Amino acid sequence: MAGIYFHFPFCRQACHYCNFHFSTQLKHQEKMLRGFEKEIELRAEQWPDALDSIYFGGGSPSLLSPASVEKLINAVTKNFKLGESVEITIEVNPDDVSFEYLEAMSTIGINRLSIGIQSFLDSELKLMNRIHSADQGMKSIEWTAKLYDNFSVDLIYGIPSSDLSSWKKNLNQALFFEAPHLSIYALTVEPKTVLAHQVKNKKIQLLDEDLVKSQYDWMVDRMEGAGYENYEFSNFSKPGFNAVNNSNYWKGKAYIGIGPAAHSYDGKRTRSWNPSNNIKYLNSIQQGILPAQSEILNTHDAFNEYLMTSLRTSWGVSLKKINQTFGKHYSDYLEKQVENHLIDQRVYWDGDALKVTKKAKFLTDGIASDLFLLKY
Ligand code: SF4
Repeated sequence: MAGIYFHFPFCRQACHYCNFHFSTQLKHQEKMLRGFEKEIELRAEQWPDALDSIYFGGGSPSLLSPASVEKLINAVTKNFKLGESVEITIEVNPDDVSFEYLEAMSTIGINRLSIGIQSFLDSELKLMNRIHSADQGMKSIEWTAKLYDNFSVDLIYGIPSSDLSSWKKNLNQALFFEAPHLSIYALTVEPKTVLAHQVKNKKIQLLDEDLVKSQYDWMVDRMEGAGYENYEFSNFSKPGFNAVNNSNYWKGKAYIGIGPAAHSYDGKRTRSWNPSNNIKYLNSIQQGILPAQSEILNTHDAFNEYLMTSLRTSWGVSLKKINQTFGKHYSDYLEKQVENHLIDQRVYWDGDALKVTKKAKFLTDGIASDLFLLKY
């Protein structure tokens, strides 16, 4: 099984922390949709796997009308094999939607919504230059909960000016809606963003790392107490509601990325990416040429990547899989390299799987980097 991901590269307004590829010039949206349809046909020619997930992300795919999304779903259905059940998700921004819009989406096959709330505090939304208000955010979740069994709420912690008590308020508000899934990310400062500029000019002061850690640790406890599984470092689900699209990625399954800046992976060693430029993308697609560049991962990089993604998950790093996929040299290396982390109880073996202990969860990425194989 594999997934297909659409990157719709348009947003009404640029959030100050965001470094995704998007344009706030909305005029080429129609052309982009024609480009997507053409790319679907070009990709399908070389794609044997059945799909179990269709994901509309971006950018802001909720700028699209239900009729446009339906056209894309139909193009996928016509060109690809589908599995028995297919998760079809669209990311929505609270300012783009109404009850009628969300209802129309549920009638064209969308069966999962991912709502970009980020915060329930107007002051934090303003600081991040989010276009919506806290009220709009709450309304959009209320409507979604009436229409969809399966939906996810996105939140951000570590926001400058927040503290543990404001974060508790935010997360408790999200839990009030009983969303079956939450994706909760730390605010990161990406190069060339307005936020990076503000931090450099001392207009914004980032939170102390200890405070961010205390927000994360409290969140992990709170979510566990509320019946959610922390199945990936930043993702929490009620039983049966793991995101199929994201899980495919973490499990190293194949995915196809459609649109500018979208990435694809064949599930083995080859990954490719479209240019992060709308005009370049469209010019190439209109000539019937896939604009993707590609690379073949060597064993060494594939091993490091497997460590990085799997250590963040609740199923962990499988020694057996390392043996089978990369060879004994790599599993021997890992067993040796992990010794100190075992002694300090930052990780543990759960049968064949290496997992991070609860107390060390916040340090997961650092532990993974320490386990990387640096030389051949
Ligand atoms: S709406 Fe999403 S993609 Fe668009 S700028 Fe904001 S965070 Fe980035």
